[in-house]
Amino acid sequence: MDFLPFTRPSLDEETIAGVVEVLRSGWITSGPNVKRFEALLSERCGGRPVRALNSGTGALELALEIAGVGPGDEVITTPLTWVATANVIVRARATPVFVDIDPRTRLIDLDRVEAAITPRTKAIMPVDLAGFAVDRDRLYDIAKRHGLRVIEDAAQSIGTTWRGREIGSFGDLVCFSFHPNKNMTTTEGGALVLNDEAEALRCERLRLQGVERLPGGEMEVEVAGAKMNLTDVAARIGIGQLARLDEFNARRRALAQRYLARFDADLGCELPPGDTPDTNWHMFQPLLPLDRLAMTRAQFIDAMQAAGIGVGVHYPALHLFKLYRALGHREGEFPHAERVGAGIVTLPLFPAMADADVDRVCDTVRDILAPRLRPAHR
Ligand SMILES: *Cc1c(COP(=O)(O)O)cnc(C)c1O
Repeated sequence: MDFLPFTRPSLDEETIAGVVEVLRSGWITSGPNVKRFEALLSERCGGRPVRALNSGTGALELALEIAGVGPGDEVITTPLTWVATANVIVRARATPVFVDIDPRTRLIDLDRVEAAITPRTKAIMPVDLAGFAVDRDRLYDIAKRHGLRVIEDAAQSIGTTWRGREIGSFGDLVCFSFHPNKNMTTTEGGALVLNDEAEALRCERLRLQGVERLPGGEMEVEVAGAKMNLTDVAARIGIGQLARLDEFNARRRALAQRYLARFDADLGCELPPGDTPDTNWHMFQPLLPLDRLAMTRAQFIDAMQAAGIGVGVHYPALHLFKLYRALGHREGEFPHAERVGAGIVTLPLFPAMADADVDRVCDTVRDILAPRLRPAHR
């Protein structure tokens, strides 16, 4: 049987042919395809300005700069996310202030956010982990009342909606990633949704050395910009992917519903909330019942691998990484994030999967876990 990875991008022949065309066109870096990709993204985002970048991390970095986050500022975020979320805050010489997650949604617990606000708080950086939307009503209510910027780490939530409105079509600064593991890809890439043309212009300059183009081929530089522009080769892939995003996400939703229906409830795994029709189902992540299991997570992943199924870990609680321990963080600080981060596994979920693949994963998980499961104590 073929190896089933936990994710795999779906790149069609039309897109591949389009890339070949770009390669033959004589213009392969940022150009007409980037402009077209940005226009299509903007259309999806209700006409808001969108600028393409060479990574989601870059989008977060520029969003922080545009929001004016710098040395001495604090940014409130979650410890249960890809480490990029917090790293960009550290790299801006600001301080990430973590608050624990809600164990049901696994998202930042908005009940705890207000208690973490200090006079130095500049922004909140929520993360739509696995594609599940952080409550935007409550989030923006808190931000508004405290005069805070919001930098949405929507790296995983393109196509997710909140009360019928798509993520990116409202709110403050919204960051997408097009890494190959995400719901759509440009190989590497990202995008930043901005509030107005002035912010978009700042973003354009910051992404390419700060250069301002003047008539007659002249130029001016007022700010030391970065080098974060997307290539036309990558943008062409994005155009092909964006056209299929709704189809991809619909397939992910169907597969996730099949997981929820088939997954053996007696295994004691906590499943992601199934009552959330608005998610793009970026990942399907059960929590292993480690306190009842005669097996570590690593042993489970190895056993799945031996059965031909890839399993990911997204993510260990990041405040326990050496970098964040060196900043003063420690075990026990965020018990929910630590427990979820220790037991979470990402099972295969991607649009090209067959229904039978879901069944095979569910059967294999049961075959591995059931014999090693101790009865629940109450
Ligand atoms: C993927 C991801 C990023 C970073 O995106 P890149 O394109 O890999 O730089 C940031 N935050 C989260 C939550 C992500 O999943």
